[in-house]
Amino acid sequence: MSNYLPTIGLEIHAELKTRTKMFCDSKNDPDESRSNWNVCPVCMGHPGTLPVINKEAVKHVLKVGVALGGTLADFTEFDRKNYFYPDIPKGYQLSQYQYPLVKGGTLNDVAITRVHLEEDTATSLHEEGDYSLVDFNRAGVPLMELVTEPVIDNAKQAGDFARELQLLLRYLHVSEANMEKGEMRVEANISVSKEKGKFGTKVEVKNLNSFRAVERAIAFEVERQKALLESGEKIIQETRGWDENTQKTFTQRRKEESHDYRYFPDPDLPKLLISKLPEFATEKLKSEMGELPQDKRKRYVEKFGIKSEDVEVLVTNRALGALFEDAAQTLSKELMAVAANYAVSDLMGLLKKKNVDADSAKFAFGGSEFGALIAMIGENKISSRGAKDTLSLMFEQGGNPESIAKEKGLLQKSDAGELKAVVTRIIEANPKVAADFKAGKGAALQFLVGQGMKETKGAGNPAVLRKLFEEALS
Ligand code: ADP
Ligand code: MG
Repeated sequence: MSNYLPTIGLEIHAELKTRTKMFCDSKNDPDESRSNWNVCPVCMGHPGTLPVINKEAVKHVLKVGVALGGTLADFTEFDRKNYFYPDIPKGYQLSQYQYPLVKGGTLNDVAITRVHLEEDTATSLHEEGDYSLVDFNRAGVPLMELVTEPVIDNAKQAGDFARELQLLLRYLHVSEANMEKGEMRVEANISVSKEKGKFGTKVEVKNLNSFRAVERAIAFEVERQKALLESGEKIIQETRGWDENTQKTFTQRRKEESHDYRYFPDPDLPKLLISKLPEFATEKLKSEMGELPQDKRKRYVEKFGIKSEDVEVLVTNRALGALFEDAAQTLSKELMAVAANYAVSDLMGLLKKKNVDADSAKFAFGGSEFGALIAMIGENKISSRGAKDTLSLMFEQGGNPESIAKEKGLLQKSDAGELKAVVTRIIEANPKVAADFKAGKGAALQFLVGQGMKETKGAGNPAVLRKLFEEALS
């Protein structure tokens, strides 16, 4: 197939984490399991009710704008996006059209068009049979929409962008952005073209509720469009869905059915002059923001000298990262790398086995206990095998590494006097191997040290054992 260039632009929605909804004081609680519990006349769209802007939600979006390096609006307003559907009881969604809160900015080298604020819709539950139910708990929940420029080249880059946005939203504490829970929802616009700089007809794919679905749907769609063009057919501009079962996209809505939303400024809400409100000043927002993922990556590489794959695990899993960082405070640079390795391999393994999320995990021990264990490795008080076993026990029940290792007999034996008896016994039991070593066979020493480790149940210091064998057989 001749060379087609894919072009992808993303539209990503994220439910914001606020105490109350976007325009009323009903609770914003995504974990509420009772249907239609967090509702009031405003978010139910009753006539005669008036909306009030949630400043916390505005602040969240402005923080995202600052983090992306975008331009914060001076003047901004909310518009009515008119359409009829049971999940939008007012007959319109409050959104932003001409004056989004944020314009421009970049993330992962992808240019951002805009970030605006709107309200989420209710949830429709399509039951078996001939009826649907509507749950208004989600109606009116603050929703951020971020739109990228059509500058993404492939599925992996789109997936990486979405992952990085999720991480940023979590670092800013503005959204949990969990894809599986629908707290973050990705729509991908995809086209292919043979000519650089000339766009093909785009298709929009919805219902992407995992990063894997984002990547697979884009890859599928690129191939589908290429094949159509190769066989002389045209791409139809349409909205397609993603079917997890068949791993294919399918037609949902054609262009001719597209809405005219008749956007116009909502007359019930005040306009906002962001630059006139001190609580929205960029410096104020920055002071509340904390460290961003990108800055943390840089700091980890510079301060701890650890490899970038390990940095990535520690930055994307905040609880694990925090534990590592606490431990690293007391360690030498060399041991910091050891600590990173134990966090990323061993602790991560233990978390995975228990199905615990390393981003939000609560550990049974603290950073100083973890640091103490790593220091024991540095002082040859414990072998790596012993350290792994100690860590596993700490993970299960907490406690101090020194006392756990002592109690379980995992402390490394480096005492020459004690190990000498072991060495003598092994030489007596293996005269042939001892003779081989004396005759110059190096591999024989390996066997003898191995026997020594076995005899001490792994607690013998191999370097000390080696030295003792060499001395005894020289
Ligand atoms: P619409 O008016 O159809 O919603 P927009 O211009 O608002 O289109 O763009 C929506 C999204 O589609 C943006 O993320 C944008 O980057 C992307 N997009 C626009 N044109 C293309 C194209 N030809 N191919 C891929 N993505 C595109
Ligand atoms: Mg659009």
